[in-house]
Amino acid sequence: MIPYARQWIDDDDIQAVTEILRSDFLTQGPAIPRFEAAVAAYTGAKFAIAMSNATSSLHVGIKALAVGAGDVVWTSPNSFVASANCARYAGAEVDFVDIDPKTYNISIEALERKLESADRAGRLPKVVVAVDFAGQPCDYNALSALRSRYGFRLISDASHAIGAQYSGRRIGSGGLADITIFSFHPVKIITTAEGGMLVTDDAEIATRAELLRSHGITRNSALMRNRSAEPWEYEMLTLGFNYRLTDIQAALGSAQIGRIDRMLGRRREIAARYDRELADLPLVLPFQDASCLSALHLYPVQVRDDAPLSRRELYDALRERKIVCNVHYMPIYLQPYYAERGFSRGYCPNAEAYYERALSLPMYANLTESDQERVLEALRELLDR
Ligand SMILES: *Cc1c(COP(=O)(O)O)cnc(C)c1O
Repeated sequence: MIPYARQWIDDDDIQAVTEILRSDFLTQGPAIPRFEAAVAAYTGAKFAIAMSNATSSLHVGIKALAVGAGDVVWTSPNSFVASANCARYAGAEVDFVDIDPKTYNISIEALERKLESADRAGRLPKVVVAVDFAGQPCDYNALSALRSRYGFRLISDASHAIGAQYSGRRIGSGGLADITIFSFHPVKIITTAEGGMLVTDDAEIATRAELLRSHGITRNSALMRNRSAEPWEYEMLTLGFNYRLTDIQAALGSAQIGRIDRMLGRRREIAARYDRELADLPLVLPFQDASCLSALHLYPVQVRDDAPLSRRELYDALRERKIVCNVHYMPIYLQPYYAERGFSRGYCPNAEAYYERALSLPMYANLTESDQERVLEALRELLDR
């Protein structure tokens, strides 16, 4: 079976994990700050806080920006539900901005128009969660300009995009967003099984995020309200969570980020081959912004209306050939939970039109040339008239 995504674990990864299992700390040990430092160094962020997954990192990010009941958070409908749910955890309302039909990321024009009318209505968002869909960076210069004009904070949900570059800067590096979130789920660029990270250049956000990750507790006497007399004392300063990563996972993460450029290089080769060999088929291939470098988490195509098979028929026919594609994403607001909150079909027409035709082809760093050949042969056989 050829899946749409999968992890790449090698002997170094296994050895790194085994070493932790034989060491003194399984969690809250030295492997966590080592992994955080590696991600900070790689992305160019000042502060990096490892967490149990990207969903908890998004929740902490939203809380660190003091979002609460009465606030509104906007995001892209073309994302995993976690991009929106983080706001609901904090009691805030969620709204959605349509996507750009070319990049599949949040549409800057739609965002600008929506901000203008929200400003008139006195209902501006406190936070915008932008998503680097498929690993392709959003237009951060335009987002930053709108952030300054309308005073919202920007979270980059870069769950797909560690290693991606915008104008020569790695996603997560200072100033592109207030907070950037990475996911290390096995289908993503690098993995820790479950795992995520929040990176920021803002020391105050970093301090709050670190507290929220671990029960709101600190042992740092500089942060304590009552100067601690006893060496065992800690203080709980806020209502936090247990969103920690383990040392076992962090060691796996450090081993993985050590070869991230090799993994990204393989993704680029695979994408280039798809670009070349699918060009004549009735598919819309993913747009690549020449001024950016995508991390290529996904290779999403759209099945054109003049194709001999519908998207569903193509999905089924590939599945019969043991090639299991996926679809990213049904617009979040069409999920029953959000539909029950008042959203309905037609709300973001570009996201819906994209979803009707989208198919994510197999894309992962250890997809072999012969497996990719099988995918290409199947697509030619099914789509070439
Ligand atoms: C995978 C993903 C998440 C959630 O990541 P977890 O680490 O599984 O919690 C959030 N946002 C996007 C865009 C994702 O693709």
